[in-house]
Amino acid sequence: MESRVVGVLGAGQLGRMFVEAASRLNVQVRLLDVGPSAPAKQISFVPAADGTTSEHVDGAFTDGEKIKELAKKVDVLTIEIEHVNASQLQTVLDEGIVKEVHPLPSTIALIQDKYAQKKHLVAQGLPVADFVAVGGESLQGTSASAQIEGVAAAGKQFGFPLMLKSRTQAYDGKGNFVVKEAGNAEEGVKALGNGSRGLYAEKWAPFVKEVAVMVVRSSTGEVRAYPAVETIHRDNICHTVTAPIRTSDPRIPQQAREIAERAVATFGGAGVFGVELFLMADGQLLINEIAPRPHNSGHYTIEAAETSQYENHLRAILGLPLGSTALKVPSTAMVNILGLSDLDTDKDAIVKTMAPAVASLAVPGATVHLYGKVGCRKGRKIGHITVVAQSDAELHQRMEPILHALETATE
Ligand code: ATP
Ligand code: MG
Ligand code: MG
Repeated sequence: MESRVVGVLGAGQLGRMFVEAASRLNVQVRLLDVGPSAPAKQISFVPAADGTTSEHVDGAFTDGEKIKELAKKVDVLTIEIEHVNASQLQTVLDEGIVKEVHPLPSTIALIQDKYAQKKHLVAQGLPVADFVAVGGESLQGTSASAQIEGVAAAGKQFGFPLMLKSRTQAYDGKGNFVVKEAGNAEEGVKALGNGSRGLYAEKWAPFVKEVAVMVVRSSTGEVRAYPAVETIHRDNICHTVTAPIRTSDPRIPQQAREIAERAVATFGGAGVFGVELFLMADGQLLINEIAPRPHNSGHYTIEAAETSQYENHLRAILGLPLGSTALKVPSTAMVNILGLSDLDTDKDAIVKTMAPAVASLAVPGATVHLYGKVGCRKGRKIGHITVVAQSDAELHQRMEPILHALETATE
């Protein structure tokens, strides 16, 4: 059906689930990531001409030369992580080394900088929490003292607490610092690079729920939202996702989808995007941030939607007809399995980490995904479990033994 070869920057769990979707459609994928045993490479060995080495590329997705090497092997390039070398993606496209890059390198670059991303959303009339640059607009930062002054000024504007954020390289809350009061400004600046990285401050959003919407965008600009879901974070890492979201005002899920579609329509290039939102007490929805790729909050689509986010990403970047984004079950949830120990060889911790996965094997409607990561480093995403059900009540019943195993293991 499709002879074009797809290259992916990054070969972690998102790449692995993308490879699974591609393999069903018999689409050839080549991956770039450090090491030959990255999660996605494990499930897709492509022998080179000599029959033993692999066609995948071993190297960093930030390494320009490695990106070029991958580009030469494929027709279409995409990403599973946004922290890539976007200017080199633009170069390989401009030089005709690869025919297409999705989403566009300019979109990836815009989204990489969370401050620029927010400015873009505001310019497009989309709702976000108030924010302001801290200590100047330079991406490289200025000085710690200028940033401390900037936090104080932001505090005067927004009050405390406020969220201090690193503009780039953020994930799992690692670029964030909650400045509880004026006296914590120095601590926050120190924690986020001490003046060496561009920062911005956001007004605290006392949300009642966190919402996420996956949206697929075709190369011609058609956008299709998946249902709005509720995400619960623990220590800034996604813990559970339930779909569809239940809200007291039944209009809210549709409003979230519309905002997410409007936002994704503003970005160039095809593919799936994850839109994170805050639902406020008065029913207002604010966009928190957008990921230009499949997203943790969309894992549930593999079992619970007509077309998974991974297959729709593939269809979008290849210009194939998009698949339905509707749920095929009334109720579904996903729980992440996180590593429990800093010691990768800690056998007891490995057994405990796997306890919810083992428990899920006895649960009807549960599907476990393990990513093939080595060891179980604390806080690392090792796998996830999705449960589908015919009602919310059945979902709760089915989730119970899995969540119980998780709580017992983490006690
Ligand atoms: P991800 O892993 O999703 O890329 P990230 O490191 O980019 O995360 P954010 O999504 O900006 O970080 O923030 C992480 C979490 O911190 C949010 O999911 C939310 O729970 C909380 N948070 C972020 N911004 C605010 C805010 N302005 N007010 C209150 N809480 C916030
Ligand atoms: Mg982020
Ligand atoms: Mg986030």
